[in-house]
Amino acid sequence: MLPVVLKPEPDERLSGWLGRLAQLYGMPIDAFLECCGLPRGEVNDLEWRLGGGEGALLAARTGLAVDELRAMTFADILPNARLMVARGSRYACPLCPGGIQRKTTALPWSFWCPVHGVRLTTRGVRALERLSETQLMMLDLNARAGALRLANWARGRDEGLPSVPQLLDVLTARHRRSSPPSLAEQPRLSLEARRANHDFLTRPIARQTLLVVVPEYDRVAPVLAKPVRAGLFSLAQGSLLQNYALAVGIGRLSVDPVGYSAAVLLASDREGEERLRGALRAWPLTLRRRIYVRLRRLRSARSGTSSGAERTGSGRKRGQSQKLRFIQSHNYAPGIS
Ligand SMILES: [Zn+2]
Repeated sequence: MLPVVLKPEPDERLSGWLGRLAQLYGMPIDAFLECCGLPRGEVNDLEWRLGGGEGALLAARTGLAVDELRAMTFADILPNARLMVARGSRYACPLCPGGIQRKTTALPWSFWCPVHGVRLTTRGVRALERLSETQLMMLDLNARAGALRLANWARGRDEGLPSVPQLLDVLTARHRRSSPPSLAEQPRLSLEARRANHDFLTRPIARQTLLVVVPEYDRVAPVLAKPVRAGLFSLAQGSLLQNYALAVGIGRLSVDPVGYSAAVLLASDREGEERLRGALRAWPLTLRRRIYVRLRRLRSARSGTSSGAERTGSGRKRGQSQKLRFIQSHNYAPGIS
């Protein structure tokens, strides 16, 4: 038995704790595991399933109960969700002591420290700070709902339909063809700088459903970092801002799948609509029917307003005043920015 053993922190993951122990004894992790009788052990593998033999060996060396050790693993994460668990910490808590790796911070949908309750951050890029406090407060409601579904899904406890993977397939589908950065997405550049940045200005950017369901993300995400990977990989490999937006998207789609899906279909181009209809085919039939009914209603409302404005005199007047307002605000815009 080891003479000194560090007490595990709340929610600490096994690999992190064993790493701290190895450091305490001034040993590389492999040598430390060998000392514990686990010569061919890969420390992260122990976190999936701490086998009876391995658990007993570690328990004998450290004095912890096998159940306590097993509670530090990701044994409750289903195999198809294991790609979500990062080998190290994804995000960091500004208040947690350095070197502590909590299980929560390995998962892409954890945005708050389980111990301190504060927002987790990433080293370097402070992506979420692009959103205002008021925006974040509203978005947090959706993000928490989405994160709860994701956490339950990873443990096989989410019965909701459409399922989490089905929602992610739609959220990450391209609803429009890829297009270069729009004027709003481009930084202000001199003519010379425009020539120098020709590659950036003409690079096609994937346009995914996520941008319609979470327009707040569309407005603040750096244009080159807007696209996310497809399906489950979007979360597994996403940045903090991307994962936060995906959780918001899952929260919103869970509450109003019909409204958001119809809005995305309305905003899509022909090929995008085909792709979306393909992804939606996995959703329950009753839900799909309601989506297409809603889409027809939205389309007829849209064509109704445009033709109505042409038909009636008052409509024309309204159209003109709107046009005037647009020109005015457009003229004012350069002065403001
Ligand atoms: Zn913390």
